[in-house]
Amino acid sequence: MSATRQAAARTRTLANYVAGRWHAAGKLFEKRSPVDDSLLATVAEADRALVDQAVEAARAALHGDWGRLSLAARVDLLHRVATGMERRFDDFVAAEVADTGKPVGQARTLDIPRGAANFRAFADLVKNVPTECFEMDTADGAGAINYAIRRPLSVVGVIVPWNLPLLLMSWKVAPALAAGNAVIAKPSEETPSSAVLLAEVMHEAGMPAGAFNLLHGFGANSTGEFLTSHPGIDAITFTGETSTGTAIMRAAAPTVKPLSFELGGKNAAIVLADADFDQTVEGLARAVFTNCGQVCLCAERVYVQRPIFERFVAALAERARAIQIGDPTLDSTQMGPLISRGHQQKVLSYYQLARDEGATIVAGGGKPALDARLSAGAYVEPTVLTGLPETARCVREEIFGPVCHVAPFDTVDEAIRLTNDSRYGLAASVWTRDLQTAHRIAGSLEVGIVWVNAWYLRDLRTPFGGVKLSGIGREGGVHSLAFYSELTNVCIKL
Ligand code: NAD
Repeated sequence: MSATRQAAARTRTLANYVAGRWHAAGKLFEKRSPVDDSLLATVAEADRALVDQAVEAARAALHGDWGRLSLAARVDLLHRVATGMERRFDDFVAAEVADTGKPVGQARTLDIPRGAANFRAFADLVKNVPTECFEMDTADGAGAINYAIRRPLSVVGVIVPWNLPLLLMSWKVAPALAAGNAVIAKPSEETPSSAVLLAEVMHEAGMPAGAFNLLHGFGANSTGEFLTSHPGIDAITFTGETSTGTAIMRAAAPTVKPLSFELGGKNAAIVLADADFDQTVEGLARAVFTNCGQVCLCAERVYVQRPIFERFVAALAERARAIQIGDPTLDSTQMGPLISRGHQQKVLSYYQLARDEGATIVAGGGKPALDARLSAGAYVEPTVLTGLPETARCVREEIFGPVCHVAPFDTVDEAIRLTNDSRYGLAASVWTRDLQTAHRIAGSLEVGIVWVNAWYLRDLRTPFGGVKLSGIGREGGVHSLAFYSELTNVCIKL
C-alpha cells in the first residue's frame, strides 16, 4: 500500500462531486495543516476521464432539470444554498481555518458570511436586470425593434486559489449559476475542504444533478489543465497568479473560450501628509497584514508624503510588532501561518532578498518564535521595509505575504507616477482629508479599484477586476452577468 493510501486509511478522503454523486476512486494527494504540518485529509484527484464525465453531466443538466427551471425557481434554489451555508456556518469556519490557517475571527466575519452573501446577491440581481431594446427606423417607414435576450454561456469552468477559498469560489459559482450555466469548479489543491462542504450544501438544497460539479486536483498536467483545454467547456473564470493566467490563456486558445481573469497585484497605498494619522495607520495595518498578507488587494508598496514619513514608518512598525501571532483557532490570534511551507520559503526568500537589495528591516524579517508544535508551521513575521530603490525586485514583484515597503514622496504627481510604475494594476488606496486631491488621484491611477480612506470595503454590485497583468474583465453586479451570459439580439421588422 502506498504511503498516501495508508494515510487515507487513517484520515477522511475528500471526494469529487460529479452528476450529483461522490467519486473518491483514483489517485490521492495529501492536504497538510499549515499550522503544524499534520495530515488533515487525503484528496481524490480528478483525472481526465472524470473531467469528461463532469462535462457530460453539466451539459446534460443544461438540457434537463437545471435548464428547465424557471428563473424564480433558480433564484429560490440559490437562496436555499445561502441558507444552507449559514446553517453549517461552524463547519465552514472550521474547514477554512484548518485548510488555510487563517484566524477564526476572520473566517467568521469575512470568509464565510461573504461566501453566503455572494449567493443571495447574485440571485437577487438576476431577477432584476433588464436587457436592452432599440426601436429603429427603416426605409419603408414601418421600422423595426431590436431586443436582446440573455442566455447562459453553458458549461463554465471555475478555477480558484487558496487565499479566500470559499469567498472566491462562491464569487464565481453564484453568478454563473444565477445566469443559468452549469458549473465545474476546481478549488486549489491547498484548500479542498470548504468546497466539499459547498457541494454538500448544494446537494441538500436540491441542486439538480450536474448543475454544480466539484473536481479536485492540481494545475499543469492535472485537473486544471484538463478543464482549461477541454472543448466541452465553454468559458473559464479564473482567479490566481498572473503566470497561471498566461498558461490558461494558452490552453484555452485552440477552443476560443471567453476568459475572465482576476490575477496578481503589487498594490500601492498613497498617504498624504494631511491624512488622519491614526486612522491611516490602522487602515494600512489591515491593508498590509490581513490574512497574513495573502489577499490579492493587500498593499505591498506604501508611499508616504515626506513630512510624516518617519513618524508613519515607526507607527506601522509598532503595529506590526504588536500583532498576535499563533494558533488560528484561538479568538485572540490575529495572524496565523502562511498557506504552506512552500509559500513560507518563498516569502522568507523575499525577506532575504530585501536584505541583499539593501533594505532596512524596520520590523520583522524572519520567522516568529513560537512553541514547539507551531514551529513546524508556515509562520513568518509581519515585516516593514524601507530604503529600497524602486527598481528592487521586492518593490516590483508580488510577494503575497505580510510585508510592505514604505517609501517617501514629495508631490502628488510623483505619488501617481510611482503607483503607476508597475506591471500590475489591481487596487490602490489613497489616504487624505483633501477630497479634491483624492478625486484627482483616483482618476489618474492605472488600477481597477481605488479606495479613499478605506481598504477592502466591497459593495458586491460594483465592478471588480484589474488592468495590465492584474486581469481581464470585470466581475461584480451586472458585470458578472455580462461575463456569465451571452446576449442574442433579436431584430423584428415591423
Ligand atoms: P495559482 O495561480 O497558483 O493557483 C490558482 C488555481 O489555479 C489553483 O486552483 C491551481 O490548482 C490552478 N492552476 C495552477 N496552474 C494551472 C494551470 N496550468 N492550468 C489550470 N489551472 C491551474 O494561484 P494561488 O497561488 O493559488 O493564489 C495566489 C495568487 O492569486 C496571487 O497571485 C494572488 O494575487 C492571486 N489572487 C488574485 C485575486 C484577484 O481577484 N485579482 C484574488 C485572489 C488571489
